[in-house]
Amino acid sequence: MTSYSRKILRAAAFACLIPASLTGCKASGNESRGAASQPPFMSAVVSVPPQNADDAPPLKKTGGFDGKRAFAHVVKQVSFGPRPSGSQAISHLQDYLQSELKSYGCNVETDSFGADTPVGRLPMKNIVVKSPGEKTGVILLGTHYDTLLKENFVGADDAGSSTAVMLELARLLCPQHGRYAVWIAFFDGEEAMKQWSDTDSRYGSRQMAARLSTSGDIKKIKAFLLADIVGGRKAQFLRESSSNPALIELVWNTAAKLGYSAVFLNAMTSAEDDHDSFMKRGVPAVDVIADFMNNGYWHTPQDSLDKISQRTLAVVGHVFLESVKQLQSK
Ligand SMILES: [Zn+2]
Repeated sequence: MTSYSRKILRAAAFACLIPASLTGCKASGNESRGAASQPPFMSAVVSVPPQNADDAPPLKKTGGFDGKRAFAHVVKQVSFGPRPSGSQAISHLQDYLQSELKSYGCNVETDSFGADTPVGRLPMKNIVVKSPGEKTGVILLGTHYDTLLKENFVGADDAGSSTAVMLELARLLCPQHGRYAVWIAFFDGEEAMKQWSDTDSRYGSRQMAARLSTSGDIKKIKAFLLADIVGGRKAQFLRESSSNPALIELVWNTAAKLGYSAVFLNAMTSAEDDHDSFMKRGVPAVDVIADFMNNGYWHTPQDSLDKISQRTLAVVGHVFLESVKQLQSK
């Protein structure tokens, strides 16, 4: 139950009319950092290469999560071009996801289905990896991997970044057998085909939640941690107000303990997203989503590779890894 929807947020992106205390609206755009400030001649003479603020941190600082590998997954996705549901490009991405996941030793399940949309019936496919646990109970992680149906929209951040983070998490988590099972879902059809509504959006996550309700397995899901738009160089994560309060606390406390309080802020925001499909069926869920309204490129052709930071990908991956550890200990 959000107070306003993504389509209204789209309007708000042009003028931040909603009170800042509610939305976390803020001034932005005056930070300057990046490779451009490095004198190019320096690299030839210094023994240690200058550390770009957006380079991936060392693996020992991120619990093994490799920001470089995650970034390479974003590069690969963007190379397929725009990837809206039902397109040739998304079928190439589906093949890539499945072959990567199998190469990590993941147990991969797929659900192909037809979705009735305002632009006709489209073939869609959810891809889910399942790592078993000792006890009953599932920790679900998820992302969408389709991109907005829009000309020249390659979606490096939306949904390339979160798809990349989930691939790298799968590489690390599939070989592990914890107390509880860990499932990682790659949803098709999150984006609206025409205009965001309860019936034109979240096709993949609604499909998975409905199937799990029919089978009764939805009751086993202890927590659903969703990632969306998690790779921006200047990304800041605000607490999504419709998410489960205890899970928000868990994720944000984990981020603070890891030293990421400058990225995971305490301000609130509101977003409709794939977590809603599970929240509506009683599953506790949290949406980890950057302040996309204010990133300056959301749902525009400027959502391109140059916006993506290896470091942000690694920070989010680290927070997810540690949050899963926390949930495994409960
Ligand atoms: Zn989107």
